[in-house]
Amino acid sequence: MAANKEMKVPLLDLKAQYETVREPVRKAIDEVCDSQWFVMGPNVKELEDRVAKYSECRHGIGVSSGTDALLVALMAMEIGPGDAVITTPYTFFATGGAIARLGATPVFCDIDPETFNLDPAAVSAAIENDCDHTGGTLVHKASGKNIKALLPVHLYGQTADMVALMDIAGAHGLGVIEDAAQSIGSEYSDGRRAGSVGHIGCFSFFPSKNLGAFGDGGMCTSNDDELAERIRVLRLHGGKPKYYHALIGGNFRLDAIQAAILLVKLGHLDDWTAGRQANARMYDTAISRSGLDGNVIAPVTRTGRRHIYNQYVIRAERRDELRQFLGNAGIGTEIYYPVPLHVQQCFEYLGYSEGDCPEAEKAANETLAVPVYPELTEEQIQYVVDKISEFYN
Ligand SMILES: *Cc1c(COP(=O)(O)O)cnc(C)c1O
Repeated sequence: MAANKEMKVPLLDLKAQYETVREPVRKAIDEVCDSQWFVMGPNVKELEDRVAKYSECRHGIGVSSGTDALLVALMAMEIGPGDAVITTPYTFFATGGAIARLGATPVFCDIDPETFNLDPAAVSAAIENDCDHTGGTLVHKASGKNIKALLPVHLYGQTADMVALMDIAGAHGLGVIEDAAQSIGSEYSDGRRAGSVGHIGCFSFFPSKNLGAFGDGGMCTSNDDELAERIRVLRLHGGKPKYYHALIGGNFRLDAIQAAILLVKLGHLDDWTAGRQANARMYDTAISRSGLDGNVIAPVTRTGRRHIYNQYVIRAERRDELRQFLGNAGIGTEIYYPVPLHVQQCFEYLGYSEGDCPEAEKAANETLAVPVYPELTEEQIQYVVDKISEFYN
């Protein structure tokens, strides 16, 4: 027990991972310094090719962040003030924020309570009940905007129900942008990778993602030549050739140093993913063995899906008290996310109220992410589970 008292289990330990790649990463950074080529360039090109291949896409376009990947993807689909985009309220802010920043209207549909991802049935119901279908377009009645796209998120590392969502999109001529910020290498049940199923995939290399840079970075992927080319041009202020602007883009460039670091880390990604998956299995087993089933619900993985566990998220009774208790025991946890987007203050103008997306609201009150990073030891995982048991007993 004395040893346990001193145990610390942070939510994420990037230093532990850095120890395993320190030398090659420093060498890669040195090479960029020697080249003095800091923005875009050969490292970015190589990373684009490798992430595209890894994600089974024809094109990879390196960008400045996951947020900018979403923004430029929406811009490439020409989504603006007259348009609306259907998305999930249970996600990181950037998903809804990118839509709103372009003057478009986010339309929030509820989530599947088991996977926490956008529920195709809720999307169908919104299209059926909340939209006007006359005139060949899909007009969202409340806002008067044209629904142009779906923006599902592959939350925590598990893909959304892409076949059902693609069917809906196909039936109504909608674009599909996958927010795969948490899901690089994740696979849908038919084996297709995150970012390769919709028209554009958006990835983040924020340090806490499974493939994390030493700062901000992101990538768009696509199997559509035209969309990929538009993203490439929009990334450089819309100039093509340089200084001739048919489009208004922005500075969405990726730095060479980040790309060089990511190229080293990408070689380890499958091992790290295997480590996360093994840790998740250990939690699953320990949770059911501890008789916690009544108080805690372990995450659900749909049959055949490759879940990459950017987060291992449980539902817990008396979640906030549990979080406090674990914190006191030296265990880092986080709530992803405490306030669903449809009830965020900045989206009050959209007119949603509490109760509009009940599953997202319930999840916001019950979910808790516990440490799952690959370098965790079995002992640490057992300690987390023991502390959870201690709390409920
Ligand atoms: C991290 C994240 C983003 C934003 O990525 P950044 O690189 O931090 O801008 C977008 N969507 C989701 C679901 C994320 O987890």
